[in-house]
Amino acid sequence: MSDRCPSCGASSAIGEEGRSHEQGGVRYTLMRCGACTMIFWTPLRMPDRHYYESLELDLDSSYYETMHTEGYGELPIHQKPFFRHCRLRQGQLLDLGCGDGTFLRFARAAGFDPVGVDFDAASVESAQRQGLEAVSSSFDEYFQEARQAGMRFDVVTMFEVLEHQCDPVGLLRGAFELLGSDGLLAGTVPNRVRFKPFGIDRYDFPPHHFLWFSRDVLEAMLSRAGFMDAVVSVELFGFRMDELRNRLGRPVKAFVARGVRGRSQREPRVPGASSASPLRGSRAQVLDAIKTVSRLAAAPAKIAEAAGERVTGRGASLYFQARKPGLASISH
Ligand SMILES: [Zn+2]
Repeated sequence: MSDRCPSCGASSAIGEEGRSHEQGGVRYTLMRCGACTMIFWTPLRMPDRHYYESLELDLDSSYYETMHTEGYGELPIHQKPFFRHCRLRQGQLLDLGCGDGTFLRFARAAGFDPVGVDFDAASVESAQRQGLEAVSSSFDEYFQEARQAGMRFDVVTMFEVLEHQCDPVGLLRGAFELLGSDGLLAGTVPNRVRFKPFGIDRYDFPPHHFLWFSRDVLEAMLSRAGFMDAVVSVELFGFRMDELRNRLGRPVKAFVARGVRGRSQREPRVPGASSASPLRGSRAQVLDAIKTVSRLAAAPAKIAEAAGERVTGRGASLYFQARKPGLASISH
């Protein structure tokens, strides 16, 4: 299975791209399909749900960390193209990989009737606490249940999901089956030809990302899964700018909060009232300070990268949208 292209299925045209990576005792090799130009890591074996829940990622986990703790106040920038490109503003919407439900919240406000699926139970609970409909499940399990229940959706979305898959065409076909006639598929993947002045992104290594998409590869994959009218657009200012706002926003907020706490602590104490351990407090402050400094230090590089994207036109994100043919009968 690992010798076949996950996009076109070719097995004879696979060649090494000349890069390897070791993680968790597994040695991965980067491959390129000579038939469809897909670039992917082998072995194509996805980690289980604990990988996403544990956050024990060998990379900066601030993106996931934020999703777990407070959620995004704003719609992440890579999800914004949906509201620019999608002509629909109502109907049943299924968001695969919904995380803490930020997109669900915006979709509901826009007029959709959204439900989300994610196998990260902590994120799903966070979505549910916001009053959103979200299910903690693998996509396969959800597809099976939805098929049995005869559910149909007008829109299926998958933002930053496809690049994690070992069977991306299978996932697209699963989404295809759940869409009604003329139903719309939309989502994003990282653009492998994005502006990368500092070499390859740590996010792009397995078992985090398995698939490296270009616009052509993505378009071909969408039609292979049965979709029509595929449109893939390169989006400037990918989620990098969002991440930057994240990096800067949280330390500043924490600093302000600390200032407020500091003032209240100077007020007269009630005799006998318990107080937090001073050691624990100072250690947390040191950790906070280290985080703040490291985030601020990374900011100029992030700004340069975002500016480079704009100048070269090689945006970080590929937004895709495609339609299920209207007259197709539902396959069994
Ligand atoms: Zn291929």
